[in-house]
Amino acid sequence: MNDWSLDPRVRAVLKHIPLPIQLPTPLKRLQGATGTSELEGRRAVVTRLRDALDLALCQGLALAGAAVVIADAEPNADYVATAVAAGMRHVPSSVDAATGVLAVVQSSGATGDRRPVVIVHRVVAPTDADPAVNDATDRLFGVGHAAAQMGASGRLLLVLGQDLETTAAGALTAAAAAGFARSAFKEFGPKGTTVHVLRQAEAAPTTVASVAVFLAGPRSAFLSGLDLQIGKARGNDVGGLPRLGAKVALVTGAARGIGAAIAERLAKDGAHVWVNDVESAKEAGAETVARIRAAGGKADFVAADVSSAAGAQAIKAAIGPAVDVVIHNAGITRDRTLRKMTLENWRLVLRVNFGAMANVQAALLPVLREGGSLVLMSSVMGIAGNFGQANYSASKAGVIALSKQWSAQLAARGVRSNVIAPGFILTEMTAHLPLMNREMAKQLTALLQPGLPEDVAELACFLAGPDAAGLSGQVLRCDGGMAFGA
Ligand code: NAD
Repeated sequence: MNDWSLDPRVRAVLKHIPLPIQLPTPLKRLQGATGTSELEGRRAVVTRLRDALDLALCQGLALAGAAVVIADAEPNADYVATAVAAGMRHVPSSVDAATGVLAVVQSSGATGDRRPVVIVHRVVAPTDADPAVNDATDRLFGVGHAAAQMGASGRLLLVLGQDLETTAAGALTAAAAAGFARSAFKEFGPKGTTVHVLRQAEAAPTTVASVAVFLAGPRSAFLSGLDLQIGKARGNDVGGLPRLGAKVALVTGAARGIGAAIAERLAKDGAHVWVNDVESAKEAGAETVARIRAAGGKADFVAADVSSAAGAQAIKAAIGPAVDVVIHNAGITRDRTLRKMTLENWRLVLRVNFGAMANVQAALLPVLREGGSLVLMSSVMGIAGNFGQANYSASKAGVIALSKQWSAQLAARGVRSNVIAPGFILTEMTAHLPLMNREMAKQLTALLQPGLPEDVAELACFLAGPDAAGLSGQVLRCDGGMAFGA
């Protein structure tokens, strides 16, 4: 299933027709399981090397295979020695001047070098007294100017250290950075370039770095405009490969669509996956299991309607004594304007999309292992709302609140709970939408294209694993950049 605007034959024809439409850039996605060299073939320019957070970012990017160039005129000399010994390059260039970073980006590769560029910019408080026009806001302009001129599939990551918002001037800079990102991600999207804000909130530097690596690489191709709080790591995983080896995972509603893609992706990273769906979907469920097993993974099917407590108990009985990862994915739509909506369909949607998660959670809580990860499927419609989807929006907004409650309640057990809010993803659920609605949905994204179930699967797999140890209580839109933040 793919979109016409990404079909190479259509694109070849359209190249010769002067139509006033902008074609999207095909995204570079990860193939296969999570590896150790996912940033190979990318250049990373880091604009500062003065403290432990800067160093962890450089080291994380380099360990993941990126060719790292550090552009700082006054770095910490010890850190530079460490970075250079690890194969990174240091350019004593100042980022203050608007062209500073651009020059570094350009010099980080030979002429015509088409490797995607990742710019990691640490946003710090200004040293000038002027709250509006100062060295920090000038630097934002400098990195934006450089990012605007890099090739396709780039990344701009703005990293805000935890000390930034402790001063009034720092808080103003943080707000300016988020505002800047809010526009920049829209500008760069048509080139397949994405922009994110990462806020360190009690997270160790390495915990921030593993989120940065995910957002710098091909696993996050369809994500743009995320604004994340990265907290203290939960769980005692230290990474390694396979990322989910020895973990038991449940994916509800996984016979087809997004759920099936998540199940396959988790299995690739080593998890034993329980594929759940309703009895009537058991053939499709068996096919999902067969695909996973054919690829060398471990999977089983459990038929159960998660909208009933009995269904949730049936899942518990099937999967046995322990579960580490629960992906609450099953969902339905029954779209109607409120005037035409029946009470039955109002209740049904709430029960399946929202109530089912509470059922499954109640059944599995006693066997949820310490350090586990919960991922709840919401929707951008749970954030923004949509004409004719009041029941769906209510249910998906409820999911967000539920995840935040679980995140707080389960912190002591090291369990994380996060929400994915997909936008327009090509599945059977969206295949029935009228053509005009589908085209409009694409135009609302910064990347000008729909997502694939694999994009949501990639994000779910990241959230399930140790690289996301610092994320809990977060809402991550997977929508090609429809809006900024959650
Ligand atoms: P889909 O309709 O293709 O698949 C949903 C699966 O859930 C089906 O296999 C269905 O049988 C199963 N299911 C439904 N009710 C169930 C129940 N009571 N018990 C067990 N299984 C049940 O949908 P999809 O597009 O893959 O969507 C997956 C999730 O992502 C849903 O929660 C949906 O709301 C959400 N989502 C999808 C999109 C999109 O663009 N496709 C956008 C935003 C959110």
